[in-house]
Amino acid sequence: MKICRSISEIRALIADLKQTGSVGFVPTMGALHDGHLMLIRRARAQHDSTIVSIFVNPTQFENADDLLLYPRDEASDLAALRAAGVAGVFLPEADAIYPEGAETIVETTQLANVLHGVVRPGHFRGVATVVTKLFNIVQPDAAYFGKKDYQQLAVIRRMVHDLHLPLSIHGIDTVRDHDGVALSSRNVRLSPAQRRAAPVLHTALTEARARLMAGASIEDAADLIAEQIAAEPLARLEAVDMVDAVTFAPVSGHPEGVVGMMLSVAFGDILLIDQMEAEL
Ligand code: AMP
Repeated sequence: MKICRSISEIRALIADLKQTGSVGFVPTMGALHDGHLMLIRRARAQHDSTIVSIFVNPTQFENADDLLLYPRDEASDLAALRAAGVAGVFLPEADAIYPEGAETIVETTQLANVLHGVVRPGHFRGVATVVTKLFNIVQPDAAYFGKKDYQQLAVIRRMVHDLHLPLSIHGIDTVRDHDGVALSSRNVRLSPAQRRAAPVLHTALTEARARLMAGASIEDAADLIAEQIAAEPLARLEAVDMVDAVTFAPVSGHPEGVVGMMLSVAFGDILLIDQMEAEL
């Protein structure tokens, strides 16, 4: 496994790898868990080589403490990536990604500013900008993203389509712990009591999906989620949004097709998100 810290190193590696086959790419912010490893497994199954990037992107954090407290563990990440059989890992410094004087941004003007984008202004602009940069540096044939970050996946699909970027995007189902909690690098920051309460996101989404499949309205399902979160004293509901999985437009009543349920819940200052799809 080649460890590349500069753009020139990763470019040289990619040029080599592309001579013999296709390249799959998994962008991450590190503190790797089995969710990341699932994306890597899928990339490896479909490509000759897989590249992973680890970059805690400052421009997608609207809160300085959240950026500072974001878990980092390079040594154990590198060991996990070696065991997972990736060809190379890109570990850039912030000033390589954002050169002095950088002023160019990428923004999905509608999608970035609805739903989670309202509670996290600037977040999806930061994501779209850094992912575009990473795509331009790595130039992969395909990139893999988790459905857990549902709106992020929609933003990236939109941006790739709009900018004619020559790669395919794959969305991967959320990998969960034994009790249903979506794996997240942020979970390590939960106190034991908060961690014990965290399955409430998955429970609420599962019950809401069952309700929807049984014929309940979107509004009733959203209310059910809100009630379940309100019943957990350590949890505070930030947002529950029900959208059409294809258009990402908010849905109401009794829609047909696939509905994406997006949930955002705070435990103290730690924000957890989760998502589930219901096929109606
Ligand atoms: P992050 O390091 O949190 O930015 O995540 C990197 C990629 O892994 C993103 O595409 C996430 O959506 C994806 N990811 C994070 N957690 C999970 C999970 N539990 N299951 C599947 N994919 C995940």
